[in-house]
Amino acid sequence: MNCLECNYNLKGSAEIGRCPECGRDFDAGNPTTYRGVDSHSVVKYTYWLTAFAASTVWIFGLFQYFVFVVARISLGHWPRPSLDDPSHINWFVSFLGWIWVVLMVLTIPLGPIVLLMLLGVGGIRSLGHDRRGHRPKMRWLVLGMLVWCLGFMLVRMDPFEVGTWLMD
Ligand SMILES: [Zn+2]
Repeated sequence: MNCLECNYNLKGSAEIGRCPECGRDFDAGNPTTYRGVDSHSVVKYTYWLTAFAASTVWIFGLFQYFVFVVARISLGHWPRPSLDDPSHINWFVSFLGWIWVVLMVLTIPLGPIVLLMLLGVGGIRSLGHDRRGHRPKMRWLVLGMLVWCLGFMLVRMDPFEVGTWLMD
């Protein structure tokens, strides 16, 4: 139960009364006088989506190293770009290499798409009167973007040339 005007959480307030934040009247018995959607669940949902979006590139990066280690075990030495073709080591590395391509195509664009979508929704909301409970979401989104960018930079820097090796 939140105020229609300022989205203040009215839980724990009197059944009928005024919003302590902006003074708008509400009646707990009349759902048209307050916002029915629990803003806490919306906030939680945004948090989880942001965390998921930020972690996609990290999951992809970790998977790369997993394939690299599996290839190392199969070969007996660390795989070298253009010399140890992932598809020629064994069927398992070849299969993981294929999953790597699918993961790259799916996860690399997914992170920014979800984050920009959440930012867009947040931006539209902030134009209205929904500012309350909105700022922590924005902080979380910015953090999510930083975490994503850091992961993307690491993948781009390609330590040990794992990406270069898999790309071959
Ligand atoms: Zn209010």
